[in-house]
Amino acid sequence: MTLRVGLSDMAELVLQGVSKMFGGSVIAVQDLNLEVRDQELVVLVGPSGCGKTTTLRLIAGLERPDQGMIWIDGRPVNRVAPRDRNIAMVFQHSVLYPHMTVFKNMAVGLTWRGDGDRIRRGWMRWRQPAAAERRAAQRRAIARQVQEAARVLGIEHLLERWPRQLSGGECQRVALGRAIVRQPAAFLLDEPLSHLDAQLRVEMRREIRRLRQRVRGCLVYVTHDQAEALALGDRVVVMHRGRIQQTGPPREVYDQPANVFVAGFLGAPGMNLLPGRWMDTGDRPCFASGGLRVSLPASVWGCRPAREDGGVTLGIRPEHLWLEVRNEVRNDGSGRAGVDRTAQVVGSGRVVMTELCGPMVLATVAVDGGLDCDGSCRGRTTSGSAQRPEIVVALSPGQTVEAGHEVSVGLDSSRIQLFDARTGANLRAMRPRDKKPE
Ligand code: ATP
Repeated sequence: MTLRVGLSDMAELVLQGVSKMFGGSVIAVQDLNLEVRDQELVVLVGPSGCGKTTTLRLIAGLERPDQGMIWIDGRPVNRVAPRDRNIAMVFQHSVLYPHMTVFKNMAVGLTWRGDGDRIRRGWMRWRQPAAAERRAAQRRAIARQVQEAARVLGIEHLLERWPRQLSGGECQRVALGRAIVRQPAAFLLDEPLSHLDAQLRVEMRREIRRLRQRVRGCLVYVTHDQAEALALGDRVVVMHRGRIQQTGPPREVYDQPANVFVAGFLGAPGMNLLPGRWMDTGDRPCFASGGLRVSLPASVWGCRPAREDGGVTLGIRPEHLWLEVRNEVRNDGSGRAGVDRTAQVVGSGRVVMTELCGPMVLATVAVDGGLDCDGSCRGRTTSGSAQRPEIVVALSPGQTVEAGHEVSVGLDSSRIQLFDARTGANLRAMRPRDKKPE
């Protein structure tokens, strides 16, 4: 069911060429272009200081843009006061009024004026029966709206409680409820889950996803947690240094990052980024970096870098690499689960360490013969005198590998991304027939 909130069906948010500077020198947001459709949940994600909160404050009207235009619900709002923008904000530490019950906290945005005492109500009914009936009808309508929002959020049983009787998660639900009952054109959520414990965060994330199907208006959600952004958003907007790096559905930005920043920022750990060279040898081009040789698939043959030295950065996610302990007798007869069995062996190395990371076990491998690495290569280099660049590989389920094992490293070449060595831009995205990154 959709909670109808009495706004036009075209409720949406548009930012066009928006820039904001602080103190004449700090560029917080630069030339930001973004459109958010009705009932769409867009997540702004990026490292600390990239301009996420400033963007939200610009939309809310708490900051004025130096340049650009903002439309909410089809109306330009650059000169509209925050309270008249028809938006609702939920913050990391949403403050509830301690002297009001949950019900009244939620109703406060609906010009709830209280019932007054019994004597006053009785006096009004006697002296001004029409006005008293109007007030009563208004109260009933507000109560219905609060009840409905509470039902959507599963907090009906909390309506008579006081804020001091709520847990952190319940407080955030009430804050969300207060936003919902206002029926805004846009919900702005600024890291609303960051102080909740991990389990509650996952639960609330699901609730917010469900919520967006049941309320009207668009949602803009800010987080620095890339996992949260990928889990939540219909679209993810990756920001860095005040600029949008890429906008797209989570799967797209994860699989086809527009540049090395996005590749390294999304994922835990991020993409392996290996600096090297494009070589036109034999019948098919290959990528070479120190001891690694990767035969490039036809899908990237059109991505040859313009640079004369063929300088290019190869990106590959840990889950698209596999390794095999050398001289190990394999008893399953298969390659890495989930990775193409024709995946090529591209080099060898020694396992430096393994670590459990969520459902995956990650092995860090120091590559034999190294990479063409000038220190810019992603991740780490082994300590000690003989520095060997390292790559991170996600092990197959059930695979046992230990530090010190000599291994062959392979990859699924269909998952390779190639980036320009100088600009960091994805070379696939640079091809004319593909979309240009923002
Ligand atoms: P975080 O995740 O740490 O909250 P953020 O991505 O939300 O970071 P913003 O708060 O938008 O980043 O800040 C963007 C940049 O603008 C930062 O460099 C910050 O120092 C600067 N900035 C933000 N507000 C102001 C201000 N009122 N005065 C001066 N500089 C500011």
